[in-house]
Amino acid sequence: MLPPGWAAIPRERFAAHGFEAVIADQDPYDPETIHYFSGFRPPPGFMKTLPNLKAIFSLGAGVDGFLRDPDLPRHVPLVRFVDPTLMHEMAQYVVMHVLIAHRGQRFFDAAQKESSWRQRMLARPSRDTRIGMLGLGDIGSTIAASLLPFDFQLSGWSRSRKTVPGVKSFAGESELPDFLAQCDYLVCVLPLTDATRGIMNAKLFAQLPKGAWVINVARGGHLIEADLIAALDSGHLAGAVLDVFQAEPMGPDNPIWQHPKITATPHIAALTDQKAALAFIGDCVARSESGRALDHVVDVTRGY
Ligand code: NAP
Repeated sequence: MLPPGWAAIPRERFAAHGFEAVIADQDPYDPETIHYFSGFRPPPGFMKTLPNLKAIFSLGAGVDGFLRDPDLPRHVPLVRFVDPTLMHEMAQYVVMHVLIAHRGQRFFDAAQKESSWRQRMLARPSRDTRIGMLGLGDIGSTIAASLLPFDFQLSGWSRSRKTVPGVKSFAGESELPDFLAQCDYLVCVLPLTDATRGIMNAKLFAQLPKGAWVINVARGGHLIEADLIAALDSGHLAGAVLDVFQAEPMGPDNPIWQHPKITATPHIAALTDQKAALAFIGDCVARSESGRALDHVVDVTRGY
């Protein structure tokens, strides 16, 4: 079963392998005949209506859209989408926004609007600028690798110790304060789990250096938005870039839209490419049918 809106998929590709592709919300189907499901955020309770599932394929790198469902059949392997294109797009987004902030581009945009020739030095060179990845998994380490050539000081925080070239590794709760104290830019790329929900709050912001920036490309549930606005308004934080929000789509009355220190984008840091997703689904189905182990199976008790 494929997500709603995927009418343009080449059904013959599945037929050639002896499968019929059914598009949710569009095609009639007998729930007993569905063996594989792919999607991003199915309605809670839906997965348990499919009694003969062999595997579930998440079309996003994050699986919180599945794990929020208390009735998710936990014995069925849940596979997450790990795609180099998606990881590079995430990295492009972060590199772009770090460089816009680091180079003070907003100042020059404002000067150009006034046809005003105003020069300004960088606040500090990149070698003295510290960027920390909150989460140093597939995406966090791709972002770090993309930032490396610019000569920033890079670090990452994860549950387990990591060896990533050019990146200082901090691990576990006990090392979080030391990690935060040395982040001029904090980039959140954590999965949303019980342990990480609301992690970016007033207490965490107070541990960042004055003038730090926060970039959230993970999930809106990681961030207490009111605490961020308070930390920006007090002058403790210099700016924020947000791609994900507590409520999506974000309503027009949300103060985030018009906040002068926030850049907000509508969850587009990386959108799943349908062609890559189809290749991923095809590969997973082939593996499963031939009895080979599936890659990137989520540990549902850990939550990622
Ligand atoms: P991943 O490879 O599973 O990496 C997750 C990282 O977070 C790992 O380093 C892990 O540490 C760390 N972590 C998890 N829980 C932790 C905890 N309680 N304390 C400390 N570290 C913890 O995931 P990924 O592929 O990089 O994706 C990360 C997230 O990005 C996804 O879950 C999704 O929410 C988000 N995302 C957003 C977009 C977008 O368009 N905005 C697109 C794609 C993905 P260990 O390695 O030690 O386990």
